Amino acid sequence: MSDPIRGSGPKIIAVANQKGGVGKTTTAINLAAALVEEGVRVLLVDLDPQGNASTGLGIETDNRKYTTYDLLLGDVDLKDVIQFVDQEGLGIVPATVDLSSADIELMANEKRSYLLYDALRQPAMDEFDWDYILIDCPPSLNLLTVNAMIAAHSVLIPLQSEFFALEGLSQLMLTVREVRQTGNPKLRVEGVVLTMFDARNNLSQQVEEDARTNLGELVFQTRIPRNVRVSEAPSFAQPVLQYDPTSKGAVAYRQLAQELLDKHLGVSA
Ligand code: ADP
Ligand code: MG
Repeated sequence: MSDPIRGSGPKIIAVANQKGGVGKTTTAINLAAALVEEGVRVLLVDLDPQGNASTGLGIETDNRKYTTYDLLLGDVDLKDVIQFVDQEGLGIVPATVDLSSADIELMANEKRSYLLYDALRQPAMDEFDWDYILIDCPPSLNLLTVNAMIAAHSVLIPLQSEFFALEGLSQLMLTVREVRQTGNPKLRVEGVVLTMFDARNNLSQQVEEDARTNLGELVFQTRIPRNVRVSEAPSFAQPVLQYDPTSKGAVAYRQLAQELLDKHLGVSA
């Protein structure tokens, strides 16, 4: 891959929102798949103990011998913890429930907030030649999410087009500010993406209007529509881009990937 996108090393993006069910995992999986379609190499790190991203990409529970937990502890060979899926150029570090105890167990570790930072920047990672690393965060602002924000260059925030959508956002922005002050001064907000958007619904339109008024340029032009094919795809262990390549959901995620790539190319040009 040519270097305009990469600069030095992969771009690391945390997909975060402390609310559950807003489309983090769906966005992480499908944005990853869409970026790979564009010819870049993407690693998806499942940082949610629920392991939905792992399941959605077809990594069976029995097949998760080494997980993000091992990656954080740094006691595993990257070749053992990174798995490859059907789509060439897409890798995943799977998660299981063992990650839920990590929050407590890692508290005693004095590098506790930097474990993912160190893991993703270890020299052995270079061999994989990733262009992007996407981190699928858990639905809380716990130590795992802080690890993601310390490790990342930017945070991508899925915003579900529903009532109260913007309320939780100030808390999230506060956490971003805290992380900037404590460990990662360059952390950027990559953008806010409206998910499960229904153009015929007044509420969706209201949320979009509020978001664009309050956040301006931070809101991606691309909106992800509510689309049943998107919600069906994980049970077929595929991104919607493969499950139904011409569905509205697939088209929207391709557009989001394009918008992201254009932005990054624009920045380094
Ligand atoms: P989170 O990771 O934030 O908890 P998910 O990505 O798991 O959220 O999404 C929550 C639920 O909403 C899932 O059942 C998912 O399939 C569904 N969903 C997400 N995005 C869409 C969409 N664009 N259209 C329809 N259903 C969606
Ligand atoms: Mg999730």
